[in-house]
Amino acid sequence: MKLQELANIAGNFPLRDKIMPLLFIGHGHPMNALWDNDFTQTLTKLGRSIDKPSAVLVISAHWETVGTYVSINPAPRTIYDFGGFPDELFRVKYEPQGHPELARELKSIVSLTDVMEDQDMGLDHGAWTVLKFIWPEADVPVFEMSIDYSKPAAYHFRLGEQLKALRRKGVLILCSGNIVHNLGMIDWRDINAKPYDWNVDFDGFVKEQLEKRNFEALINYQQAGLAAQMSIPTNDHYLPLMYAIGLVEKDEPLQHIYEGYQFGSLSMRCFQAG
Ligand code: ZN
Repeated sequence: MKLQELANIAGNFPLRDKIMPLLFIGHGHPMNALWDNDFTQTLTKLGRSIDKPSAVLVISAHWETVGTYVSINPAPRTIYDFGGFPDELFRVKYEPQGHPELARELKSIVSLTDVMEDQDMGLDHGAWTVLKFIWPEADVPVFEMSIDYSKPAAYHFRLGEQLKALRRKGVLILCSGNIVHNLGMIDWRDINAKPYDWNVDFDGFVKEQLEKRNFEALINYQQAGLAAQMSIPTNDHYLPLMYAIGLVEKDEPLQHIYEGYQFGSLSMRCFQAG
């Protein structure tokens, strides 16, 4: 075979076959965006340890809809989807470009549902409070997909499985929620408050099932008893985990990159694959 023929073949296989990392990040309190602590330092280090992707797809607890939407906004704005915090937090801007082309690619690869386009969505705080530490220059395009809160956990797991191909197209997928998230029981006075026993128990249960790759037990979390009920009073912050476990490749190692608690009733567990 002549050299030119070889080059032509190589040209048909762009160097995009590399599988991009998958992240589950427990984002916790919005003020983490301004805090220097071991959690935010972990995010900063993470940004230095991974290659910059073509784009980030964020699946966040803070974009819930009926039906599934993907943002095709080429210039997503920072959304301050909370109240009662210091002005300083409302002055943080994190405004990377969007990626309409990859967003439409997502639409085309999903068969489980008809993913709809959203032209206006910005970046919710589940996205920007995390990404500002990973890529502070906002130089990686970001687009979001919503979570259809009318659907059960198993549905989100299956939808996650259908998104696997994006990891081979230069897309890093960031699932942003919290494994344990009980705002009713939060101790606002003390970020380092002793975690409730049910928080430690359920966070440990999830860690163990992840290590055993017993994803069925995580999908059927409602069967995990009182600790699960206390940890997931509403499942908005838990559902991003369903996407993460759906997106893991068979036998792909999972690495717990951060373990800890905030305000007694939040688990900040983060893990990475790839
Ligand atoms: Zn949140």
